[in-house]
Amino acid sequence: MDNNARRRIAILGSTGSIGTQTVDVLSRYSNLFKAELLTANSNVDLLCEQALRLRPANVVICDKSKYEPVRSRLEGSGIGVHAGMDAVCDLVAADNIDTVVTSMVGFSGLRSTVAAIRAKGKTIALANKETLVAAGGIVTTLARQTGSPILPVDSEHSAIFQCLQASPGAHLAKIHLTASGGPFRTWSRDKIAAAAAADALKHPNWSMGNKITIDSATMMNKGLEVIEAKWLFDAEPEMINVVVHPESIIHSMVEYDDGAVIAQLGCPDMREPIQYALTFPERLKLNNRKLDFAQIASLHFEAPDLGRFPCLGLAFEALRRKGTAAAAMNAANEVAVDAYLKGRISFYDIAETIEKTMNGVNFAANPSLDDIYAANDEAAAKAREIIG
Ligand code: MG
Repeated sequence: MDNNARRRIAILGSTGSIGTQTVDVLSRYSNLFKAELLTANSNVDLLCEQALRLRPANVVICDKSKYEPVRSRLEGSGIGVHAGMDAVCDLVAADNIDTVVTSMVGFSGLRSTVAAIRAKGKTIALANKETLVAAGGIVTTLARQTGSPILPVDSEHSAIFQCLQASPGAHLAKIHLTASGGPFRTWSRDKIAAAAAADALKHPNWSMGNKITIDSATMMNKGLEVIEAKWLFDAEPEMINVVVHPESIIHSMVEYDDGAVIAQLGCPDMREPIQYALTFPERLKLNNRKLDFAQIASLHFEAPDLGRFPCLGLAFEALRRKGTAAAAMNAANEVAVDAYLKGRISFYDIAETIEKTMNGVNFAANPSLDDIYAANDEAAAKAREIIG
């Protein structure tokens, strides 16, 4: 990379798990990257600390009630301070941004992601999978029209993307999407049924935010990733095979027509896919733990159990239904996970809420972006009604 032209980065959701690890990558390579925009939902302290370290042109706190503490902390720093989602959408579209890391949580990331893509020519380092789940057809079509490459940050999709570099243009026969199986992989259905959110938050391999950790326990995370893979790699549902691999060493694999399977491996560390998305097609040194195969000794694989993890089956069903089905599924999941985290519903109520919502809302076969927003709102309201 040319040291004289530093890549100018926006991090949407800089205080979350992916956001903080992106800040870490940028800090180590300040000769290559310049943070121009940091946005956070509500974490004033961390946003201000990051801003004073990285000196972006602007920061946005989405929660408008927290504008004043951010403004006063950054007074005299020369950093522009803004509040609200409209400011995020305006600033992310500005000319001083080359790459946008979309690391905010949930469907609420869709608006700013679309704003970044519409601004033309920006690279999207996509970590907000819900945007592709809810509006994958619209987002990927728009990105093709505006010439915005979408590079995956999700570890599995980064792995698939890396594997695809081995045979550019070759016909892809299958994607083997690996899943850790989450904290309840070996638990009986009865034991899982009684599990509290605190149990679900103990993920064996990855350190992540609360929403994705619960999604990992229900395996909805893998369901969301199946849909994400469909849109990123133009794959049909039958081409996508989920395989449980508890060690999370193989981050995913691709299979070609000749039966050759290419895998990407590494110790679980999100900084690797984040850094690859920022430096692609180059690779830079990373001070992460490296694989010791003799110490690992063996890797394990098993088929996912859709009986104990029905959310994964619901995601495949949403893919088959197409249209607004995945948007409705995603909205119901967000509402149900929030209720589960607050102790208001039990583990299997999450899947039940999603299924009832998917069957109880309107469906549009060829949705516009407005239809997607409407489907999200309708499904969220329906899910709240079901939960009561
Ligand atoms: Mg993942």
